[in-house]
Amino acid sequence: MKNEHMIRINEHISYIKASENPLSADIGIIEGEKFLWIFDLGADESAAEFLNGIKKRKNAVISHFHPDHMGNLEHVKLNEVYLGANTFKYAKLGNVVDEDIFIDDGIKLHIFPLPSSHAKGSLGLETGDYAFLGDATYATMKQGRVCYNSSVLKEEIAVLENLSAKYFLISHDERFIRSKEEVIAELKEIYKKRDPKESFIWI
Ligand SMILES: [Zn+2]
Repeated sequence: MKNEHMIRINEHISYIKASENPLSADIGIIEGEKFLWIFDLGADESAAEFLNGIKKRKNAVISHFHPDHMGNLEHVKLNEVYLGANTFKYAKLGNVVDEDIFIDDGIKLHIFPLPSSHAKGSLGLETGDYAFLGDATYATMKQGRVCYNSSVLKEEIAVLENLSAKYFLISHDERFIRSKEEVIAELKEIYKKRDPKESFIWI
């Protein structure tokens, strides 16, 4: 993997695009004053090598426990790792985040718990106009069917509405950078389909 695989969003933010073979999530790279902040580590070996080649101390925020997001955890040399309690069960290392954290590293970072039907204990990372959300806006599978948990979706929409970022970065999405309004409008459309007598919204 070379530098050209890093796609620049602005002066401080870049990302490495997700791949399907090997299945590896988008990797967010934020250049702080003291640290390089990495949102999700992916599972692609060449991405791990690429990250290790960057000569700056690295902190990672892991969105959730799925292997395509944290597979490289043992391969990338890291200073600090931030993750949700459920992700900690799989990673067995790092700092558990159960409330909003605000960090100033030359740029301002906001790490926040994000209620998600896709994976319990998801985290997001907001900096300036951009918020990395991982897979948190996706559905989950139950009894072989795609669904959202309606109360979790309601909480998720509330958290997302409170963010000041204008753009949401959605892992595995071809567009990756999407407008906040558009993503929230889609989730609200799904929420409208709920049956008050049921816990799940079947898609
Ligand atoms: Zn996932």
